[in-house]
Amino acid sequence: MSAPGEAVAPLVLVVEDEPQVLRFLRASLGAHGYRLVEATCGEEALREAATRAPDVVLLDLGLPDLDGVEVARRLREWSAVPIVVLSARGQERDKIEALDAGADDYLTKPFGVGELLARLRVALRHAARGTAGDEPCVEVGELRIDLAARRVFVGGEEARLTRTEYNLLALLARHVGKVLTHRQLLKEVWGPGAVAQSHYLRVYMGQLRHKLERDPARPRYLLTETGVGYRLADA
Ligand code: CA
Repeated sequence: MSAPGEAVAPLVLVVEDEPQVLRFLRASLGAHGYRLVEATCGEEALREAATRAPDVVLLDLGLPDLDGVEVARRLREWSAVPIVVLSARGQERDKIEALDAGADDYLTKPFGVGELLARLRVALRHAARGTAGDEPCVEVGELRIDLAARRVFVGGEEARLTRTEYNLLALLARHVGKVLTHRQLLKEVWGPGAVAQSHYLRVYMGQLRHKLERDPARPRYLLTETGVGYRLADA
């Protein structure tokens, strides 16, 4: 499952200045068939991204020269490469800023190999799939979201959702497996004027969980990323 395939192993640009983390990434990614390019500062990362065309970027936020957020922003000016941010605890704000700047996902240090590989698989799958909208139906466990027909089913039973509930769920479904920040969700569903209204999300996620989850208090599909946003589980 974890082997990326026999064709050409995906090329990962690892941007990290801590030797220990770098060693860990080198060992675990190498063991699972990924190819690596390494950069230990932001400027080098931008150079390598341009010349080596990696399939995915693992980007540490605390770099010696540029801020990782700045690296993400500059990369996004010309590249659609998936970016998975590596952040230490206490970098909550930077992490959110990086996601808003165009990063796709994040890992909080310390993280395990399993988590790392799962995030990379999601990022690569999204990249392969292209932009949103070409996946007419999203299925996770018993949950089925038919994006073409705008209908939602749980275990074969149709769920009755309001328009806003559906729009919120559909947005998460179009990015299944990927975290979306509060700001991104509010902006897309309610409009740019609503980006500060986090309570909308709490209310609507509560309603959605109530309609879709077996145990709304312990959701299986609609996952909270504490302090950051939400994600629809991808398995
Ligand atoms: Ca660092």
